[in-house]
Amino acid sequence: MSKKDYYEILGIEKTADKKDVKKAYRKLARKHHPDANRENKKEAEERFKEISEAYEILADEEKRKRYDQFGHEGVNFGSGGFSWDQFTKAGDVSDIFEQMFQGGGLGDVFSQFFGGGRRRQQNNRGNDLRYDMSISLEEAYQGLEKEITVPRKDNCSDCDGSGASEGGTLEHCSQCEGQGMVREVHRRGFMQSITTNVCNRCGGTGKVIDKPCSKCNGNGVKDNRRKINVDIPAGVEDGQHLRLRSQGDSGSRGGPKGDLFVVINVNEDKRFERQGSEIGYRLKISPVDAVLGKAINVPTISGEVKLNIPPGTQPNTILRMKGRGMPVIGRNDTFGDQHVEIEIDISKASGKKKQVWEELRKIEEQESESFISKAKRKLRGE
Ligand SMILES: [Zn+2]
Ligand SMILES: [Zn+2]
Repeated sequence: MSKKDYYEILGIEKTADKKDVKKAYRKLARKHHPDANRENKKEAEERFKEISEAYEILADEEKRKRYDQFGHEGVNFGSGGFSWDQFTKAGDVSDIFEQMFQGGGLGDVFSQFFGGGRRRQQNNRGNDLRYDMSISLEEAYQGLEKEITVPRKDNCSDCDGSGASEGGTLEHCSQCEGQGMVREVHRRGFMQSITTNVCNRCGGTGKVIDKPCSKCNGNGVKDNRRKINVDIPAGVEDGQHLRLRSQGDSGSRGGPKGDLFVVINVNEDKRFERQGSEIGYRLKISPVDAVLGKAINVPTISGEVKLNIPPGTQPNTILRMKGRGMPVIGRNDTFGDQHVEIEIDISKASGKKKQVWEELRKIEEQESESFISKAKRKLRGE
């Protein structure tokens, strides 16, 4: 089966610019997100994958150029393509750390023990990076694009990331015999333990350079501060993270790039209580308004909205303001509700107000008296 044209999938012209690509993608991604299409999830998933794949290629200048020139052949898809793990619940933050370990420290040691053939490749993969971003509830409501500055290691411009100066050559590292790792055997009495460390001569790559680049000392990477635009979708929740592939550290000497994880922290809002896309709000009203009913302006995350309090509203009644909650992530124009819990503000009365309340009491007493006398008459059979 031949693959569909990426431009066709996103429904855009070949001349579309970066903004158009993004716009088309966001629109389609929301519409076809599997969570928004529970009835035919399978189909939606397929479609969503298609859209994401098309976007991954067309949003990347270099990949797009290759695709325009060579078609699908030109853009080789590894297993590391786009995936909908961009947004994960707070509980899954641990998986970020797992990923991080793969980038450096522990992963290397373990793969050595378990005979990982991919070891050398992993040794010089760049680190995954974490960036914590705090946003307000309003920003989470609207979604935002934010430029962040990430300190990271980028390829050295002098040697193009190779670490070798012009005319330099790569040689087998003699310290680790090209393994990238060195084993150390420790003995204490009859106990023997073995530790495995990244070779410090070649930095785990297994190769050394006879004439290292003077600018990066042969590492191939240099400290840099990179500005990156992050697109945070409306409805994002506290603790969710965005994974930006290949925006982490560059690997030493041309090694693969790590990923950047942007962890979102949504600040608490004094007025509103949030639970996913639902919002809770406490509204204090006077006993008069509770008895007589009233249309009252109530704050919502999107501004003040009139809420109708029906006559005779009891304390702790919960009134629902439909669609006044937070947007549901990835779903086109779907919003949660705002739930308004009614509190009745009972306080001492004085002056004229007190007189009116006393009037009220007299009326109630008369009513109850007449009720009793009615009952008495009934008993007497009148
Ligand atoms: Zn260099
Ligand atoms: Zn070595």
